[in-house]
Amino acid sequence: MNCIATNILTPIANGDIIYIPKCYITISAGKIFAVSETAPQVECLDKTDCLCIPGLIDSHVHLSQLYIRGKYAPDLMQWLHKHTFPAEGMSRDAKFSEQIAQDFYQQSLAKGTTTSVVYTSPYPAACETAFKVAEAAGVRSIIGMTMMDRNCPDYLKQETAASIRASCELWDKWHDKGLLDYIFSPRFAITCSAELLEETGNLVKSLTARLQSHLSENTFEIEQVLDLFPGNSSYTALYEKYGLLGNRSIMGHGIHLARQEIECLRATDTGIAFCPDSNFFLKSGRFKWNEIEESGIRVGLGSDVGAGTDLSMLKMMKFADYILDKSTFTPAKAFYHGTLGNAVLLGLESKIGSLEAGKEADLVFLQHDEFFKTAVDSEDILSLLIYLNQEIKIESTWIQGKELYNKAKSGGNNEVS
Ligand SMILES: [Zn+2]
Repeated sequence: MNCIATNILTPIANGDIIYIPKCYITISAGKIFAVSETAPQVECLDKTDCLCIPGLIDSHVHLSQLYIRGKYAPDLMQWLHKHTFPAEGMSRDAKFSEQIAQDFYQQSLAKGTTTSVVYTSPYPAACETAFKVAEAAGVRSIIGMTMMDRNCPDYLKQETAASIRASCELWDKWHDKGLLDYIFSPRFAITCSAELLEETGNLVKSLTARLQSHLSENTFEIEQVLDLFPGNSSYTALYEKYGLLGNRSIMGHGIHLARQEIECLRATDTGIAFCPDSNFFLKSGRFKWNEIEESGIRVGLGSDVGAGTDLSMLKMMKFADYILDKSTFTPAKAFYHGTLGNAVLLGLESKIGSLEAGKEADLVFLQHDEFFKTAVDSEDILSLLIYLNQEIKIESTWIQGKELYNKAKSGGNNEVS
């Protein structure tokens, strides 16, 4: 049994947080045994100068786009062709794909992210490498090889059958393996044939596998999808027809959804990854927070790196708050959707997302003493955490009770800002 003396801030429900100063987290077999205000009869590691929050969760991120963050294009389609596709093509090289995976997971840990839902480039070997790197790093990651069989450069284009076969092989090998899982990842309807979408839908159903894709991000994209697949009433209806919706599916963005599409996502219990930084960067539009929240659809926050400019989920919380207009979004909701809300999106809320007895000890320690000295209550702490996140230093990041990143030991090169 290990014990850490610290101060904790954790979500307990959507919009509801608790702050417990001067408390003790006891950890046994990688799980939180108890959070208590009285000292246990064991020696405790002193982190009373830190604020401890749950490990952050990123529900939508592209590993192979790490190095193109901040590269401008006026909109989604131009950005894909100018920056994204060439960048993903780099992962054909084995050394490159290993280096970028190492950088991705180390930088994610340095930003306090303990769980990520990842797209890799469309090469099976690059996806396999990402799994091996994630496994060696000890991180929690749900990873999928991007599937594309049309409307992309030849060096990325997969044969339909080969794309499906490779995805199945990766699923066989990595499904529910330790902290890792596989997620089928057709990029979006523009780069996927009807056959690819339909077969993927059938597979996901028969395997009860996870699936991620992009939906309704950009108005031009939507028009193109409806041109490519005539006779469908909406982008969402198309995905429903091919069996891509369901309670293990996460759709990235969902910005321009019509009321019937929102209803369809709710009825099928499909989740949405809201990626505010990316939506800003590509000027894709404003997420309909109030309508989506009212519908009861499960929503989490994603960085969407590389259209998102940063792996920091604290930054995504701030951007989510900034992008939403006249909404009922609050700092407590932002915190929830980057932690426990994302865990709910992934069906992992019994294991991660908050600091409670019985959950896995995925912890982030933030340097606390100087920074939070003006805070008088939990609302202040939360507010500073989100709005001044660029000034907060992450001291260490832990998964299952093991320290995987420590700022002092890393030379302080991987700061939040
Ligand atoms: Zn994306």
